[in-house]
Amino acid sequence: MDFRPGLSWEFLSREEIEEKSVRALRNHIRHVKEYSEFYRTHLSGVTPDDITDIADIAELPFTTREELAAHSSRFLGVPAPQVVETVITGGTGGAPLPFIFTASDLERIAYNHALHFHGTGITERDRIMLLLSLDRYALEGMAHYRGAVMTSANSMRVGIGVTEPEELRNNLRFFRPTVLIGNPSVLRAAALDCEEKGITTAGSPVAKLVCTDEGVYTRELKCNAMAQSIAALWGAEVFSLYSTTETAVAYGDCPVHSGLHAHPELVYTEIVDDDGKPVPDGTIGELVATPLGVEGVPLLRYRTGDMTFKVPGNCSCGRNSCRIGPILGRKSQLFTCNGTVVYPLPLTNALDSVEEVKDYLVILENDSGRADSVTIQVAAPPAALQKISAAIHEATGVHLQTLVSNIPTIQSLRKGNSKKIPILDRRESRQKVPV
Ligand SMILES: [Zn+2]
Repeated sequence: MDFRPGLSWEFLSREEIEEKSVRALRNHIRHVKEYSEFYRTHLSGVTPDDITDIADIAELPFTTREELAAHSSRFLGVPAPQVVETVITGGTGGAPLPFIFTASDLERIAYNHALHFHGTGITERDRIMLLLSLDRYALEGMAHYRGAVMTSANSMRVGIGVTEPEELRNNLRFFRPTVLIGNPSVLRAAALDCEEKGITTAGSPVAKLVCTDEGVYTRELKCNAMAQSIAALWGAEVFSLYSTTETAVAYGDCPVHSGLHAHPELVYTEIVDDDGKPVPDGTIGELVATPLGVEGVPLLRYRTGDMTFKVPGNCSCGRNSCRIGPILGRKSQLFTCNGTVVYPLPLTNALDSVEEVKDYLVILENDSGRADSVTIQVAAPPAALQKISAAIHEATGVHLQTLVSNIPTIQSLRKGNSKKIPILDRRESRQKVPV
């Protein structure tokens, strides 16, 4: 596929984008009803001509992860010989789920990532070092690598956990990367490793850090503590990219850093409340995505379970595509405290912002009255407890029980999972939380 970013709809006017989206959604309905057994019944009685206005899409049924898990083979849009890759999605939104892609799907995903990289200002003159895992089942590493190659920049696949001083030194000295792509905590660990081994990172040619997986923004679209830390360590500008395997779609920010842009020719984006009704821009709700042009597992109005909001107004970068805020947490991980809904992201951002906190775990349980009971274990000196409690209160508006713990105890509570898991949800039945 030729990479031609000029063909993207993102610089068209809002009205033109809307008009094209209506046509694309009509074609999408036609496609899923023809190729997907699930949608033939799910959309019985619906025809493409039912969509005459963009608001009409809100009348169509949603697709949930539970439906995907229960009927996965009925969703398939192609016969088995056309499948070229299978991945297993992570378990954060439920049980792991196999997902398939055609050659065209992989090209589409690469194009989506390349558009994002192009939007950050990456060109063929850049040298991109990917500190991502390309093995196991994850789609993420492959998607970023293919996207980087599509921009014609020079790419180097480094992986995660570069700790040998010689390897680090050689990578930085010989490749001289201008862009690093990876999870923020991996980028931070790499910089600290370098520092420890006497290698300067702040003066390196690295100018951009494209962060995946963990968020780098606060609800107010300011850099969080982790983003500030890696920006200072590398002397570079931080960008964020959010993607999910199910939707095969990536949202990313531009140099203005005022929300993550959707690429409207690849996805139609909605934010809905608990009852599935659209919410006004700026209001928090669940992200619903309709990926366009997917062959393997085409989806319509997929409820991602991720909470965010649409950023009001147009971006000053000139793109008129819709922008979403940072992911504030999974809908299932919201909890209430004295009647206040608490989102995971402000809470974890607050904990990350306190230097003395070396690790932490937020434990959610039901108390005897079936309300949410919250305990935060922090690996920090007791003298820092007041500072930590104040940061939590400022970010969430509530006082939460915070106990001093230590790293081995917290790790044992995570049951040996090496990946940093900030929230342990032990609630038996999730309360329905209004959003
Ligand atoms: Zn922008």
